[in-house]
Amino acid sequence: MVVEYLIIGQGISGTWLSYHLQKANKSFIVIDNDQPNSASRIAAGIINPVTGRRIVKTWMIDELLTFLVPAYEELGNELGIKAIEKKSLIDFHPTPQMKIAFDERVKENTDLLFHPKDQRQYQNIFNYDFGFGKVDPCYIVNLKEILPAWRKKLLSNNQLLEEDFETPELKQTDAGISYKNIKAEKIIFCDGIQSSQNPLFKNLPFALNKGEALLIEAPDIPSTHIFKKGMMLTSIQKDLFWIGSNYLWEFSDDQPTEQFRKQTELLLRSWLKMPFKIVDHKASVRPANIERRPFVGFHPTYKNIGILNGMGTKGCSLAPFFAKQLTDNLTNKDQILSEADISRFSKILMR
Ligand SMILES: Cc1cc2nc3c(=O)[nH]c(=O)nc-3n(C[C@H](O)[C@H](O)[C@H](O)COP(=O)(O)OP(=O)(O)OC[C@H]3O[C@@H](n4cnc5c(N)ncnc54)[C@H](O)[C@@H]3O)c2cc1C
Repeated sequence: MVVEYLIIGQGISGTWLSYHLQKANKSFIVIDNDQPNSASRIAAGIINPVTGRRIVKTWMIDELLTFLVPAYEELGNELGIKAIEKKSLIDFHPTPQMKIAFDERVKENTDLLFHPKDQRQYQNIFNYDFGFGKVDPCYIVNLKEILPAWRKKLLSNNQLLEEDFETPELKQTDAGISYKNIKAEKIIFCDGIQSSQNPLFKNLPFALNKGEALLIEAPDIPSTHIFKKGMMLTSIQKDLFWIGSNYLWEFSDDQPTEQFRKQTELLLRSWLKMPFKIVDHKASVRPANIERRPFVGFHPTYKNIGILNGMGTKGCSLAPFFAKQLTDNLTNKDQILSEADISRFSKILMR
């Protein structure tokens, strides 16, 4: 089988890369082993344009939103699903200091942050002592439907192999690469945390980060907003809510922990005035890195071997944009943004 590109992984990164390549009329095969707790299969899909205690805009968010909202809408239209939904985030201040900090930022950032007048609006649903602010717009990406729907499409086009990629089978050739019976010009790894074990990419400054989430049934919570008080609470399908997450830099495995479950249940009991039932508990590891910038581009020595990775906590906003940059680089030799291009790590990659 001869194709232009071989893509490893169909999380949010591999999905977007294969989507953009398809639009550019390029031929490709995706290999994905459908790992049930890969980051994209556990994530809530939240795009929050602000971050941190100082509530500052996230990296490149204006440019990313301008690109990704129509991109998800177009993908959704092609798949016959609603791929992205605009929501606002109701941020319950956990302390009086955080309320003051938020109110200060509202004065400076008038396009995203708001201080709603009626501070009693959610009193029948939540316990909160220090009021709330609003972040608008935020978005929810419908990962639960996008990933299987795109997978189905790839399968029906004979563009997906559902199996493990086995690194020893990869060979460099004069024309590109070969893998078992596949010949391709280039191979691109979109395999999330697996790339941190890949002999060619393991020197990239990955800093893997574990996160957990509970799924709860809570029929009386409105699904209209994302709610935040220490953790994010958002509807992911009718009457089913996702609550998470924690951020662990040190961990011994990728499994759910009793500690997270207890801590989150306590939070829910003190926060919600409504009944809820915990129906599932998930954990995964984020392909995060020290710089909090993606890894995009080709190995400095093995020019036919590339990567689209390092999405950290923000795969839903970064993957569509940087998959397009990689596609434009492949098709038109357009430059990849220097802050994302792995050529910034050429020296350590050549070691
Ligand atoms: C608890 C939690 C909550 C999160 N919430 C959000 C959120 O709300 N918003 C947001 O933007 N981000 C969120 N994230 C981060 C987000 O999940 C990641 O940034 C994103 O999913 C990374 O996507 P990826 O496609 O690069 O990697 P992955 O999702 O890990 O995909 C890798 C794919 O490669 C496949 N694969 C791996 N190895 C092999 C192999 N050897 N052979 C074949 N296939 C292979 C896997 O099966 C998988 O499909 C969250 C993460 C966690 C853990």
